[in-house]
Amino acid sequence: MRRIALLLLLPVLALCAPVATPASASEPGAAQALRSARGDTARLRAFLWAMPKGGDLHNHLSGAVYAESMVRWGAEGGVCVALVTFTASAGPCLPGQRPVADALTDNVLYNQLLAAWSMKGFRDGLESGHDHFFASFDKFGATTSGRIGDELAEVSSRAAAQNEQYLETLITPRFGDVSGLAQGLEWTDDLVEMRRRVLTAGILDVVPRASADLDAVIARQRALLRCDTPTADAACAMPVRFDVQGLRAFPKATVFAQMVLGFELMAADPRWVGFNLVQPEDGPVALGDYAAQMRMLGFLRSVYPKGHLTLHAGELTRGIAPPADLRFHIRAAVEVAKAERIGHGVDVTLESDPIGLLRELARRHVLVEVPLTSNRQILGVWGRAHPIGLYRRYGVPIALATDDEGVSRTDMTQQYEAAVTEQGFGYRALKAMAIDSLRYSFLSDGDRALALRVQRAAFARFEARYPG
Ligand SMILES: [Zn+2]
Repeated sequence: MRRIALLLLLPVLALCAPVATPASASEPGAAQALRSARGDTARLRAFLWAMPKGGDLHNHLSGAVYAESMVRWGAEGGVCVALVTFTASAGPCLPGQRPVADALTDNVLYNQLLAAWSMKGFRDGLESGHDHFFASFDKFGATTSGRIGDELAEVSSRAAAQNEQYLETLITPRFGDVSGLAQGLEWTDDLVEMRRRVLTAGILDVVPRASADLDAVIARQRALLRCDTPTADAACAMPVRFDVQGLRAFPKATVFAQMVLGFELMAADPRWVGFNLVQPEDGPVALGDYAAQMRMLGFLRSVYPKGHLTLHAGELTRGIAPPADLRFHIRAAVEVAKAERIGHGVDVTLESDPIGLLRELARRHVLVEVPLTSNRQILGVWGRAHPIGLYRRYGVPIALATDDEGVSRTDMTQQYEAAVTEQGFGYRALKAMAIDSLRYSFLSDGDRALALRVQRAAFARFEARYPG
């Protein structure tokens, strides 16, 4: 009965009814300052850097780190790198490999590693931005082994320094445990039975291990940021929560087991607040199993009343995937999987009945996480071709996000700059997005209210600099 009552409550809690953006007496002055900085890159950057920006809701922790840190960690860890592909692997080095440490004194190698492990200096040519971007993760992965706390320190510190009030970052908990456990499981489309098999195989044993991992990650972050000392980094006071990443390019049993772990984690540990599917949406398994994966999530959403869902959906455009695959991903994520937020949503106009879909997203209060730099680099979609303005016109809530700011060599402020210079957004629109990024965060009700209060005070201080 209690579960039924919670289920009935869920849609009400999940909906954030739109409210008018609160205006302060100084808001017109800030809006005027932004208008006058529009054509002045340096002034615009300074204005937007200091502006409160709410939460980064779409931030893959491993891709948010800059390659310079990876070189440093790889050197410290004795990691090696293959000379042709620049793929890192654990030492000792084999023929055809060099120690990453060499890059600290060999400028040519250093620049080659930065270019291979990020979008630094990338030019579309034989390799597309999409392919270079996704390939980088397989290349630098070995340098970040055991460094999640270090990653969190770097990324949270950068967020707080830019006046962000919240970080919701994506990490993949205990994938080795889950894939090992799933390997012995036979797939069945009977999801009740499939969940029973995953539980019987021992998925619940992974929950305390994943929570213990998080304890260590946060302890390391806090030590690096000197939290609890007089010189604490500003990020020590900024709330951080974690979304569970499930890898979507694996067999159904492995993907489903990751989903079950995700929902169990959210039920057991309040630091895990959301679930998401990652890896290229246009990969062969991701395309072939897309509808099945949405059904799995829809089923688990009905089983677990706790836990939120945001999904990469529509990180596609013409030429990236066959037309039939461009017609339904966003709608299925919302209607079948019951996602509360969508990541990217770039191909919305290529879906069946796009106007009906836009109205549906607005009616359901589904927020779209928009990483403008990532969309430009991976999909080649930017400027007037990007649907962010369309979402706004139809009243779909939107929030700017960084996606993989390290690989992309960007930050949150640059997303705001692009929203102004490429999309023509003004101050009120930016402020509405910054507020929505907190209102649609997966923070608990109490923590969300607190974050909004902190942001309101930050806006008051910021706008007071620009008396009308
Ligand atoms: Zn993403």
